[in-house]
Amino acid sequence: MNFFIYVLIALALVLVIALVRAFTFGSQSANGEKVNYLQIDTSQSAEHLSKVIQVETVSHGVDQPPDPQTLETLHKVLEDTYPLVHKTLKREKINGHSLLYTWEGTKPELPGVLFMAHQDVVPVDPATLDNWTHPPFSGAIADGIVWGRGTLDIKSQITCTLDAVEELLKAGYQPERTIYLGYGHDEEIGGLRGANYVSKHMEEQGIRLAGVIDEGGMVAEKMLPGVEAPIALIGTAEKGYLTIELTVEDEPGHASTPPKNTAIGILAKAISRLEDNPLPPNMETLVNIFRAAGKNVPFHYRLVFANLWLTRGIVDKMVSANGETNAIIRTTTAVTVINGGIKDNILPREAKAMVNFRLISGDTAEGTVNAVRQIINDKRVQVKAVENNGWNPSPVSTTESPAYASLEKTINQFFDEVVIAPYLMLGASDARYYYNVSDSVYRFMPVQLGSKALKLIHGIDEHISIADLEKMAQFYASLMQAWGKAEM
Ligand SMILES: [Zn+2]
Repeated sequence: MNFFIYVLIALALVLVIALVRAFTFGSQSANGEKVNYLQIDTSQSAEHLSKVIQVETVSHGVDQPPDPQTLETLHKVLEDTYPLVHKTLKREKINGHSLLYTWEGTKPELPGVLFMAHQDVVPVDPATLDNWTHPPFSGAIADGIVWGRGTLDIKSQITCTLDAVEELLKAGYQPERTIYLGYGHDEEIGGLRGANYVSKHMEEQGIRLAGVIDEGGMVAEKMLPGVEAPIALIGTAEKGYLTIELTVEDEPGHASTPPKNTAIGILAKAISRLEDNPLPPNMETLVNIFRAAGKNVPFHYRLVFANLWLTRGIVDKMVSANGETNAIIRTTTAVTVINGGIKDNILPREAKAMVNFRLISGDTAEGTVNAVRQIINDKRVQVKAVENNGWNPSPVSTTESPAYASLEKTINQFFDEVVIAPYLMLGASDARYYYNVSDSVYRFMPVQLGSKALKLIHGIDEHISIADLEKMAQFYASLMQAWGKAEM
C-alpha cells in the first residue's frame, strides 16, 4: 500500500470517530414527571413590587451604600406588606440593614435552604430621566407591566420570595427543612457590608445549607447560534475580577532628541501585545450548554462541539469574534485607563495603564499577572495587580446535588421545551459569599428574557410584566416546597 492509502484510512478513521462522538453528544433532557405543588394566590404581586420599587434604596458608589433611613423605610414597607411572614419567621438585621429571615422547618437538624436577593438598586442617570416611559421610582403599573428601577434587578426576587412564603403560610404549609431568606443591602457595590456579613453570621451559627438560590442566570432566548430553544442558565460559578496596572518609567528629557521609544511608546506596544494575545480559552461552559441542548442543535454544531480535539482552533476563532460569547470561554482583557505625558515637547517620565480582567473558573489573580508578564515580555514594563480591588473566581457549585436536580425539575415545570445548563456567570453577585456554608450555590432568576430585555437591567425603562412576575412568585412557592422537603 502506498502512503496515500494510509492517509485515506487515517482520515476515514478520524471521520468515523468524529461522527460517533457527534451522534452520542448531548444529554437526555430531564423532562419528565410533573409534581403537584400548592399553588399560591399571586393577584397582589404587582402591587407589592410597586410599593417596594417606590423606596429609593440606591447604592451610589463604592463608599455610598443606600441611605440607612431609606433602608428602614423599605423594611417597614415589607413589614406592612407581609404580616404573616413577620409574625411567623424570625427576622434578624445583620450589620445594620441586611435582612435574614428564618422559617424553621419541622426537621431543623437537616441542612436548610436559602433564597436570596438584594435590597439595593443602581442609580438612574438624571440625564436619561426623560427617556423613561414612567419615572424610575414611580413603580407605575400600566399595560400589564410594573415599571421602575429594581423590577428586574432584583426587588422582584424580594417580593416574589416573600409572596411565596406569605401565601404558603396562609395555606398552612410547613417546610421540613429550615428555609432562610437573605437580602443584602449593598450588592451593587460589592456586598462587603451585606452578604459578606450575613454569610459569616450563618457560619458562626453552625448553619449548613443544602441549596442556595440567588439572581444570576435566567431563561435566555436566542443566546447561542444553533440553539433555537430557550436556555435556562443556572449559574454554578461566577467570574473573578482583577485590575492590573502597567507602568513604564523613563528619563524625562527634551523632545528634540528622543530615544527610539518613549515611555508611552513602550506602554503602547505592551498594550497592543495584550490585545493581540487573548488568554487561553476554556470551552467547558459552552460545551455544557451545547451538550444540554443535545438533539435540539443542528447536527453540524454537534459535530463541531463533540470534537473539540479536532475543532478547538476554529471554535475559538468563531466564539472569540463576539464579545459576549468570548467572555464565556476565557479570562477577558480590557484596557480601561491610560495616562502619560504632561507637555507636547517634554519626554514623558512615566506612562501608566490599567487593564481589567474577568477571571474564568480555574484562573487566579497570581496566574494572570504571570501570564500578562509573559505576553508583554518586556522588562521595562512593570506589571502589578491593583491591591484590594478584586477577587478570584468563585468555586464551582456541584450539579450532582439533590438541590440542583430539584431546581432543574422545577424549571421544567414552569418553562416548556427549555434546555437547562450550568453556566459561568459573567458579572458578580452576592452568591459568591455563601460557599462557606454550602457547595450548592446557584444563580437563577425564573424569568425568560431576550437580548432586548437584558439591556433593561441597569438601563432605561427597566420593567417586568405582571405575567412574568406572577410566574416568578409561583416558581418560588414550588421551589420552596421542593427544597423544603427532607427528600428533595
Ligand atoms: Zn442584582
